[in-house]
Amino acid sequence: MREVRIKDTLSGEVVALDSESEVGIYACGPTVYSRIHIGNARPFVVFSLLTRFLRSEGYAVKFVVNVTDVNDKIYAAAREAGEPSARFAAEMTGAYFEDTERLGLGRPDAEPLATETIEPIVSLIAELVEAGHAYESGGDVYFRVRSFDGYGKLSNRRTEDMDQGEEAGSASLKEDSLDFALWKARKEGEDTSWDSPWGPGRPGWHIECSAMAEAELGPSFAIHGGGSDLVFPHHENELAQSEAAGRPFARLWMHNGMIETGAEKMSKSEGNIFQLSEALDRYGREAVVDYLISGHYRQPLAFGAEQMEQAVARVERLRNFFREHGGREPGGPPAGTRVESLGKGSELRGSQVPAGGPPGSRLERFRDALADDFNTPRAMAEVFELVGEANRGEIPSAPEAVLEMLELVGLDSLAGHEDAADAEAEALLSEREEARAAKDFARADEIRERLAELGWEVRDGAEGAKLVPKG
Ligand SMILES: [Zn+2]
Repeated sequence: MREVRIKDTLSGEVVALDSESEVGIYACGPTVYSRIHIGNARPFVVFSLLTRFLRSEGYAVKFVVNVTDVNDKIYAAAREAGEPSARFAAEMTGAYFEDTERLGLGRPDAEPLATETIEPIVSLIAELVEAGHAYESGGDVYFRVRSFDGYGKLSNRRTEDMDQGEEAGSASLKEDSLDFALWKARKEGEDTSWDSPWGPGRPGWHIECSAMAEAELGPSFAIHGGGSDLVFPHHENELAQSEAAGRPFARLWMHNGMIETGAEKMSKSEGNIFQLSEALDRYGREAVVDYLISGHYRQPLAFGAEQMEQAVARVERLRNFFREHGGREPGGPPAGTRVESLGKGSELRGSQVPAGGPPGSRLERFRDALADDFNTPRAMAEVFELVGEANRGEIPSAPEAVLEMLELVGLDSLAGHEDAADAEAEALLSEREEARAAKDFARADEIRERLAELGWEVRDGAEGAKLVPKG
């Protein structure tokens, strides 16, 4: 088991994770008022893959991502869509699950919804009121920021620079403009509310996470994650609420940088796709995942057609490597089959050992890079070094070591054929299925021929038709 070190936003230091106890990871999930953007996918991918890596090193991990399914933005979007807000939020939650499912990285261990955590939220607010850290005003409840000494320690802001970003209407209800809402009284036009000691209303955004994190991971847990845009006010407020209520809360705060679109305007017409589902349709799962780990998680990451095309080229290079050096055939050994024999150099004679060492030492360095503040670009550089060495014939071949590395970042499907079909081919395949169901066999044959031109053979099996690259 490697020592895994992560940069902690709170202390500003790189600290080692405790390997003795379960590593609880809580990452803030989306507010479901629209389909998620590629920017929302970054924390999902970073923390899913961190979880995967820690488990592969022998750490016990519980990974939690919440869903904020009640919020002003949701009320507004539902009104615009002419739908009840609860139904709208449920639809968008479903779309979020669907979109992230397509990343192919599995699901977090728990995905609590704010609307299903009302009881713990209300009792945490009641504790804060009882302790004098919060007060009721006009049916709302506010956190009394100046009652908590540590306020500002996460974001290191001066109080003059703190703007809670709350609606102007609440200003007159606050003792101090620094205070923020824990509970919001039901307003005209809002179609959902819950009972509380302060009357009908709904939770504020920040208190949800304090309550959900504790409900899933207990009062103290290893890592609280999220995008760097959440440091203030969201995470500063979570920390204040939980610590004021006597919980140790997160031992380490880990923040990913933002996806930056630069001067380029995001629009479909400019081919500059920003919604996750659209990026997946256009570039494929592997390129999207590769793009999201192509920069260090803490750095901002530029997004545009150019970056996505580079990612497509990288995954194509990996796919070609397996085509040439043999990958995993359907029915072959499962992904992640360990290759213990590699790395000892036993099958490599002296002069054959390349400068980078045998394939297994690249694998070791790949893991070392991930253990060092989850440095995915450095890890991926090891993959491409090894691929280059094998392609140049400097080492016999190394598909197993490359496969094991790719398994750790969710890209092992590049070694097989099952996921290799592109969106166009998949769309044609389902069109063919529809034609067959409608007994339009002429059309079905036409599509089969078109697929053949694109390099795909259609195989009809018991579980339906699938695409196999033509040999
Ligand atoms: Zn949160």
